[in-house]
Amino acid sequence: MAKKFIIGNWKMNLNVHESSLFAAKLAQEVPTYRDVTTAICPSFLALQPLSLQVNHRQMKLGAQNCYWRDSGAFTGEISATQLRGLAQYVLIGHSERRNIFSEGDREIRFKVQAALRNCLTPVLCVGETALERKDGDTEHVLNDQVVSGLLNVSSEEISEVLIAYEPVWAIGTGETAGPEDIEKAMKIIRAQVSHLFGREASKKVSLLYGGSVKLDNAASILSAKGVDGLLIGGASLIAPEFAGMVKIAGELAKEEAKNEVKE
Ligand code: PEP
Repeated sequence: MAKKFIIGNWKMNLNVHESSLFAAKLAQEVPTYRDVTTAICPSFLALQPLSLQVNHRQMKLGAQNCYWRDSGAFTGEISATQLRGLAQYVLIGHSERRNIFSEGDREIRFKVQAALRNCLTPVLCVGETALERKDGDTEHVLNDQVVSGLLNVSSEEISEVLIAYEPVWAIGTGETAGPEDIEKAMKIIRAQVSHLFGREASKKVSLLYGGSVKLDNAASILSAKGVDGLLIGGASLIAPEFAGMVKIAGELAKEEAKNEVKE
């Protein structure tokens, strides 16, 4: 039975105090399910206090980025080594990092390796822009980003990686990819993982969808074939929305487990 993942990306929102208050609100509202991993990705600043505050059985913590060297003269950066013990997950190659901060494939690949080296689960974000979609380049872009991001990941390590399909045109825009587009993208990503690491690995790798997910559309997206979870931006800052999505994932996981027993 595959686990489901609900990960909230708080982006550059909430100061340390506000983060703590919001996490306390989530603690009251977010249900716990055996087969759902819930994680929140606050700012770097809030990670340390939240690591002491949250119940880790209820919610894990993730960072929104990391640097790929472990230490050294890299002013202003935060390494995966420094995140160790504070976070369990780290977003890598989010489209805002790729597009606003010009992160390239090489850097993203090094960050994936840095996360794994430091016992963090990398959430490798991939997705096409509106223009690439319009030009019919989605498959090509996804294959390129997956191959490049996973270069140097070993077949033992691939089970520790999460991949989030986040079409750039859907992030923060209110536009969501339809279930058919999502299923197609998941199929492309899984086929590429199979090509690189074999069929077994591709069946086990967890794939998330992100891009304007809200309580209203979460159930249909989570039910799309090949989707193992959600990466949620804006709606993760609304406690009842986020908690509601965890509940949807939990109920779906229970349903799937029941069906597995029957089969
Ligand atoms: C994100 O930040 O990864 C994201 C998917 O944002 P939003 O849900 O706001 O589109």
